[in-house]
Amino acid sequence: MPKIILNKLVIASNNKDKVKEIKSYLDKYNVEIVPSYKLQVPEPKETQNSFKGNALLKANHSVKHTNLPSLGDDSGLVVPALNGKPGIYSARWGGAKKDFNLAMNKVNKKLKNKNTFAWFVCSIALVFPNQKKITFEGRVYGNLTWPPRGKFGFGYDPMFVPLGYKKTFGEMKESLKSKISHRYLAFNQFYKSIKFN
Ligand code: IMP
Repeated sequence: MPKIILNKLVIASNNKDKVKEIKSYLDKYNVEIVPSYKLQVPEPKETQNSFKGNALLKANHSVKHTNLPSLGDDSGLVVPALNGKPGIYSARWGGAKKDFNLAMNKVNKKLKNKNTFAWFVCSIALVFPNQKKITFEGRVYGNLTWPPRGKFGFGYDPMFVPLGYKKTFGEMKESLKSKISHRYLAFNQFYKSIKFN
């Protein structure tokens, strides 16, 4: 794939924590990062039925409003024994209050004694004003454990043990999680295709 030069990038998200994390991945590059909420881009509804579809939807929506290269992402937990759930609904399983104890309990209750194999996915889409699009996906495989363990991270981290490790993501320091996570793996591919000015 030819390398693409990029010097300004809109992060299509209203989530300040997510923008901060993405900024930290791109810190070492000379690229100006602008969150879409600073450009008054309204938040689109996530209407697609795949991570990639929702990442593209967010990036396309931002390009339409800003006419600037935009990055959208979507992520979640996939549990094959639950037919892929919570999947694209991972955030919504936490309810309006984004209560992930509730969401983890729901996963555990539905799982009963079924196979605990699971993975996190992060899909990133980069869309340019000329409609050129590139997508990347990162996955980290592991097993679900109960009860949840650890105070670090967010979402389903305390019940997820990545393959090759004994600690849950919730027990790992951010410095370790950020070297093996689905987001890291997706961004790693992104760096390989993009040249920053
Ligand atoms: P979104 O990508 O903002 O739509 O939200 C994804 C949802 O998936 C989050 O709210 C979390 O519940 C879950 N999720 C995504 N990545 C992680 C992770 O690294 N750890 C734990 N949960 C995650």
